[in-house]
Amino acid sequence: SKTLHIIGGGMAGSEAAWQAANAGIPVVLHEMRPTVGTFAHRTGSLAEMVCSNSFRSDDHEQNAVGLLHWEMRNAGSIIMDTAYAHRLPAGGALAVDRDPFAEAVTAKLRAHPNITIVGEEITALPDGPTIIATGPLTSGALANAIAAETGQDALAFFDAIAPIVYADTIDMSIAWEQSRYDKGETLEEQRAYINCPMTRDDYEAFIDALLAADKTEFHEGETAGYFDGCLPIEVMAERGRETLRHGPMKPVGLTNPHNPTVKPWAVVQLRRDNALGTLYNIVGFQTKMKYGAQTSVFKMIPGLQDASFARLGGIHRNTFINSPTLLDDQMRLRSRPNIRFAGQITGVEGYVESAAMGLLAGRLAAAELKGETLPPVPQETAMGALVHHITGGAEAKTFQPMNVNFGLFPPVEGLKAGRRGRKDRYKAYTDRAKAAWTAWLGREAEAKPSSSAA
Ligand code: FAD
Repeated sequence: SKTLHIIGGGMAGSEAAWQAANAGIPVVLHEMRPTVGTFAHRTGSLAEMVCSNSFRSDDHEQNAVGLLHWEMRNAGSIIMDTAYAHRLPAGGALAVDRDPFAEAVTAKLRAHPNITIVGEEITALPDGPTIIATGPLTSGALANAIAAETGQDALAFFDAIAPIVYADTIDMSIAWEQSRYDKGETLEEQRAYINCPMTRDDYEAFIDALLAADKTEFHEGETAGYFDGCLPIEVMAERGRETLRHGPMKPVGLTNPHNPTVKPWAVVQLRRDNALGTLYNIVGFQTKMKYGAQTSVFKMIPGLQDASFARLGGIHRNTFINSPTLLDDQMRLRSRPNIRFAGQITGVEGYVESAAMGLLAGRLAAAELKGETLPPVPQETAMGALVHHITGGAEAKTFQPMNVNFGLFPPVEGLKAGRRGRKDRYKAYTDRAKAAWTAWLGREAEAKPSSSAA
C-alpha cells in the first residue's frame, strides 16, 4: 500500500506527517493521547512541549541549533513555522507560547487533506510503510515489541549522564593518567583514564556531602518498572558508606606516581570523552543532584578543586534505540526496512533535533513510496551532521543521546583554531551548511518528476 503510517504525534511524528503529506503521500497518524497518557504530557494536542517552552538559540550564524532552525524553515517545517508564528520575546532564543503553538500544529495537521489522525495506542510493529516516532516515553507495549525485534540490549529506557570536565582544569600535580591494571594495547589507551586519589578523610567527607546534597526527584511514574543498572551515585552511597569504595571508586589496579608508597583509600576515575582529549567524564557518576550541588560536591575530589564542567550529570527516563547498529543511512531498521525511526527514540536529544529527524524521515519515506531515492544529506549541514552521527558516526558501544553541535561537522580547513578563531569558524560552518542544504533541497526537487510536471 502507498499509505504511510506514523506512530506518535509529537515533535517528530507531526513534522514527518506534514512533510510526507505535502509530498502527496496519504498519511495515517496514530497518537495515543489523550486516551493513554504519559507522566510528562498534559494535553491531547499534537507536538506538545513537555517541559521548557524554548527551541533554544535562533542564531543561525553562530549556533548549531539555530542553523538547524534555518535549515528546517527552508524545508517548509510545520514545527518551525508554527513556532515563529507563536514566538514570545526571549532575546536570542526561540521561545514559544506552548498551548497555542501545539493547538495550531494540531489544527493544521487535522485540516490537511492527505492526513488522517487516529487516536489509539499502537502495540505491535506494523507490516506496511511506517515511521515510529513515539519519543522518550514510548508506551510499554510498543517498547516491548521494539525490544523483541532489536534485542533487549539495543533499547535503553534511561539516559544516565555522568558529568564532563574540561581536561585542562584537572590538577595533574594531584591526579595522574593510568588505566586500571594498565589495560589497553596502546599507550594512548592506557592513558585514556585520569585518576584522583582520596584519603580516608577525603572519602568520608565526600560521602557526607553526597548524602546531604540537594537532589531532583524522579517524576511520578518515571521509574515505574524500568529502573535498573544506572543508579545515581548518591543512591549507591545511601545503600552503605562503603558501596562506592567497592564500586566505581575502588582503589585497585592503580599506583599514584605522586605518592607511590601510600595506597589511596578510594579513587575517582575520569575517562576520555572525545578524540581530541579535551573532555573527560567522571566514570559511574550519573546523578540526580541539583546542578549547584554537583559543582560543589565534585570540587571536593582532590585534583578537581578547580575543575570546570562542560556538562553536569543527570538521569532521565528516555527510551532510545542503538541507532548506529540498528538503522541504515535512510533511517530504516536494517532487520525490517519497512520501518523507519524518527525523533528522540533515534538517540537525538531535544525538541528541535527530534523534529528535524521527523522532517528527514518523512521526506525519505515519501520519496521511497514514490519510487525515488533521495541523495544522502551532506554531512556539512546540521541535518546531515546529526543523521550521520546517529546512523553510523557515533560509537555504538557508548551511544548516548546527542544534541546538534559543531563537533559533529567535518572541520573547515584553514581557519584559526582555539577560542579566538571561534566566531569566524562558526560563521564558516554555517555558511557552508546553508549552501549545501540549499543545493540538497534543489537536487531533491529535481528528483521529483511530479512537482516539475505541475
Ligand atoms: P514526543 O514529542 O514525546 O512524541 C511522541 C508521541 O508518541 C507522544 O505524543 C506520545 O503520546 C506518543 N506515543 C508514545 N507511545 C505511543 C504508542 N504506542 N502509540 C501511539 N502513540 C504513542 N527537550 C527539549 O528540547 N527541551 C526540554 O525542556 C525537554 N524536556 C523534557 C522533559 C521530559 C520529562 C522528557 C521526557 C523529555 C524532554 N525533552 C526536552 C526531550 C525531547 O526533546 C522531547 O521529549 C521531545 O518532545 C521529543 O520529540 P519526539 O517527537 O521524539 O517525542
